[in-house]
This record gives sequence, structure tokens and C-alpha cells, in this order.
Amino acid sequence: MFRMPASTAGVRVFAAHAAAVAPHPARYAHTPAALTCPFGVTSHAMSTTLLRAGRVICPDSGIDGTGDVLLVGGRVAAVSMKAGELSAAGAEVVDCHGLMVCPGLIDPHVHLREPGGEHKETIATGTAAAIAGGFTSVCCMPNTTPCLDSGPLVEFVRLRAREANLARVFVAGAATVGRAGEQLAPMAAMKQAGAVAFTDDGDGIANAQMMLRVLQMAKVVGCAFMQHCQEPTLTHGAAMNAGSLQVKLGLGAWPAIAEELMLERDVMLNRAVGARYHAQHVSAAGSTEILRRARAAGQPVSGEASPHHLLLTDAACDDYNTQAKMNPPLRTAADVQALRAAVADGTIDVLATDHAPHTEAEKARDFAQASFGIIGLEHALPLYVEALVTSGAIGWPRLIALMTIQPSKLLGLDASGLGTLRVGAPADVTVIDPAARWTVDLAASVSKSRNSPFHGRNLTGRAVHVFVDGVSRQGSLATISRP
Ligand SMILES: [Zn+2]
Repeated sequence: MFRMPASTAGVRVFAAHAAAVAPHPARYAHTPAALTCPFGVTSHAMSTTLLRAGRVICPDSGIDGTGDVLLVGGRVAAVSMKAGELSAAGAEVVDCHGLMVCPGLIDPHVHLREPGGEHKETIATGTAAAIAGGFTSVCCMPNTTPCLDSGPLVEFVRLRAREANLARVFVAGAATVGRAGEQLAPMAAMKQAGAVAFTDDGDGIANAQMMLRVLQMAKVVGCAFMQHCQEPTLTHGAAMNAGSLQVKLGLGAWPAIAEELMLERDVMLNRAVGARYHAQHVSAAGSTEILRRARAAGQPVSGEASPHHLLLTDAACDDYNTQAKMNPPLRTAADVQALRAAVADGTIDVLATDHAPHTEAEKARDFAQASFGIIGLEHALPLYVEALVTSGAIGWPRLIALMTIQPSKLLGLDASGLGTLRVGAPADVTVIDPAARWTVDLAASVSKSRNSPFHGRNLTGRAVHVFVDGVSRQGSLATISRP
């Protein structure tokens, strides 16, 4: 059971907000072992940090105001909405004037490339990029080599994450063996090994009967199924969004309906099942309509958006710019506006980078042969700010919700207290300077790869302190070997 450490005996939780922030100190007490061991970070039992006088934003507990947050022994020990009220003997005090103090950011969709793709990224370099971008937890996709379709492979990733000891790493297991879409993967065994969701990301599950069985099994094991919506018969040889620029460049067409068709089918299949279904990297306006309808009908369906789809159009592919080659592809200005509107009205309720490292050589090929995807972890926060907050679509508290408690709920991590600053929760905290101005310099990237169309872009907003389990992790970045 979580107990307030003796060293904080003099600390008071501000009475007016005590009910909001400290409902049940024992709320997360059943999971400390699960958090310190399987998910990849080492606890520093007695470290004490006081984050003083920041704008505390915790959408889960309805907090948005100036106050203090005290971290003791790897847990949130107290939150006061009266700045300067908290104190603790021996605490390291961080002055947070002008900064935002938020639950640690969670990215539910990253590619860490290990095992098998260590020339692009490793679990160590990928989680270093996560910390650099303010993310305390990531969920990695199973399209590695071999693919993560068994309990031992899930355990391997968790072991490597423990060794890296930076951000927490959660695993999305493959839904079908080898991601081949033909045979159900051992989802129950993978869940037992620590998998928190299932997906064949990189490919959609094309066979309707197999999709139905996956949804049924996802319902049985109690995890979300996350679909990469791509009807393969419509994307043979496809390289970019179908449209006039694609015709001009003479590249293979990737129509929006390739995404919409699979999403619509899945929603229909799921009507009788009721599994927790999540559409990954939504790119098309039509998909937002399908999600909106399904949610209105009461289906447990959600969708995610990525920074590039919220900011860029297929015009970025001109001159055969392979840094703008994505799966799903960048689409039109109308699609960008529809995605932002879907975030604004709650249809899209999770943000995810789809961090996809590739080597220079893999991006230097002809457009048709170049790899899909870009890195995202280090630049995502200010890109979301530009696309969603500066544009007026949503405010900061909603943005923080989409990057903390919402992905936490999707992955079932909320029961362990991730994505919140409630008292007793793991002390995963991201401190943001919303006014920090900086410029993307891929040469300074912490990730092992440099593939991004955002090099040279001026950004506003940056994570300046990142605590996992109450310990600042940014200092650990210096130990990460660069390529
Ligand atoms: Zn995907």
C-alpha cells in the first residue's frame, strides 16, 4: 500500500483540492512491482523533488492552475494549488515559474526497430529520443524482425527497455503470426508476458474472417486492437496520395478510400463484438466521418492523429521529396482541416507520433522505392502545439489530455496510475516551457535516424524536465552512444 514517506510528514495537500488530487492514496498500490520491473525503468526509492510554482495541468484530475507538485520515492506525494505551499526536507527544488507541470507524455505508437532493425534505431536510442521529446512512456509496434508475435519476444523487448532505463516501454503484440494475417497469434500468452495492445501495424488485416477472430480474441483478453487501415488491393505500388501532383510525378496512387474501406468494414464487423478498436494514424477526412458515426452509435472506437498528418499536405512530396513519403500518405488541405476538426470535437482522442526511423540510404532511393515514415518523438510536442493549439482547435489542457490520460486509457495503463498526477501515482512528470523557441536540427537528433521533413522548422514549446519514476532522465541521455 502506498504511504506518505516520513520525510514528507510536514507536507500538506491543499484542502480545497485534496478531494480532486488525493481520492485514494492506495489507488495504485496494487501495481508498484509491475511498474518498476516489467515496464523498463529502475525506481530510485528515496529521491525527493519539489516542482514549485508551475502551471499544473492534469486533465485526469481536472486540475489547471498554478501550484506545486511533490515527488517522493518514485510517486506523486502531494499536489498543492497554492504555489509555494509545499516543502520537504532535502528535496531538490525545481523553479517552474512560467512552465507547465504535466503528467508524463505517453506515445502509443512508435517503432523502436529492435530486434532486427538496429541500424535504424535501438530500444536505447528510441527511448532516448522519447525522453528528449518529453515522453515518459511509449508503446512499440511489433513489425520488427522477427516480429513480436510471441510471449518470449515481448519479454525480450521489456528486458532491453529495462537495460536502457530511460522511458517506459510497453509492447503492442502482433495480432496474427508473423503479421501475415492468416493465423491468430497467441494473444493471451503475449498479454501475460506484458503486451498491452495488439496490432499488425505496417499492414492492415485484410481477411475479414481473420479480422473478426482478432476482434473476438481482443475482447476476450481485454486489450485494444489497433488497426493500420490499408486495404491492400487498392495500394499495390502506391507511393503517395492520389491526386494531381501524384499524376504529375508519375507515382503510384494511394487513394483515401484504401483507408476508409478497411475502417468502415472493421466498424461493421465490430458491431456484434464490441471490442476496444482503435484506428491508427488516421489521414483521411472520410475516416473521421466513419469514426464519428461509430462513436455516436456507442461503439468503443477511437482514432489517433500524427504530427505530419495534422500539418503537411501531399504538396510536400513535390520534387520527389522522400522525407515526405508516409504510410498512410500525406493528403490534402481539406483532410488536414478535417483531422483538426476531429481532434477538436473529440472524434480523434489520442495523439501518436508513428515514430518510424529509417537510414539515409533507405530514404535516398527513388521515391517509389524509398521507405515510408519519419521520426517523430523529439519534435512532436511543438508540432502538435502548432497544429492544434496555435491554430485554435484546442487549448493546452486538452492537448495534454490527448498525450497523457487518453493514450493511457487506450493501453490500459490508467489502472497503474500512468497519465495522471493523482497522489500515489508513479512520478512520471513532464515539465514544458510553452514559450521556448527552437529550430529543428536533425544533426542534433538523439534518435539514430534523421528522416524528417521538418528540418529547419521553427518551433515553439519544449519539454525541459522529464521525470520517470521520480528521477530526471534527461541527464542519462549523455550516456547514449550515437551512430
Ligand atoms: Zn501503421
